[in-house]
Amino acid sequence: MHEEDPDFILLTPECKAWCNWSALLPKTLHDWKRSRVWPMVRFTSEVAQYQISRDKYFMIENPQGSAIWDTLIADKLFVQSGVCFDVLDQCQYGLRDRENGKLHLKPTALVHSMNQDIVKPLLKRCKPGSHEHQPLGKRNKYGLRTAQAQVYPEALCRKIAEVVKAQIA
Ligand SMILES: [Zn+2]
Repeated sequence: MHEEDPDFILLTPECKAWCNWSALLPKTLHDWKRSRVWPMVRFTSEVAQYQISRDKYFMIENPQGSAIWDTLIADKLFVQSGVCFDVLDQCQYGLRDRENGKLHLKPTALVHSMNQDIVKPLLKRCKPGSHEHQPLGKRNKYGLRTAQAQVYPEALCRKIAEVVKAQIA
């Protein structure tokens, strides 16, 4: 990382142990799962701090309800100047259930050090009542919906690339 001197780093720590679903697990199992991902959360925070210290850019992506955000708040990452917390809905980028084709809302939070005006076009929100959503909670015939929905829709990848390009140009 020091050699590459990156202008931008996208951080997407595994959300499995941090998401709403795992809060339903028994406390001890939940704690165990969280402790397994703890080193990755620390690493995420350190990389973000490293970018801030060099006046470079980072973006951390996780579901809006992820407990990782509480941890990062506790880590004082959010209070650093220029760090923003924003949300987009992935239905706006065509995230769909593989089996029935219905859109997933999947509110997704981004904590980043980028310019607000540049990031704004990325932050598309769903208009309530504009279409039906498929909740992520149950399995479809391909398995866990939460696992399938971890893959970004192509339109979201393109928009992120566009925004990053504008920021570091
Ligand atoms: Zn929607």
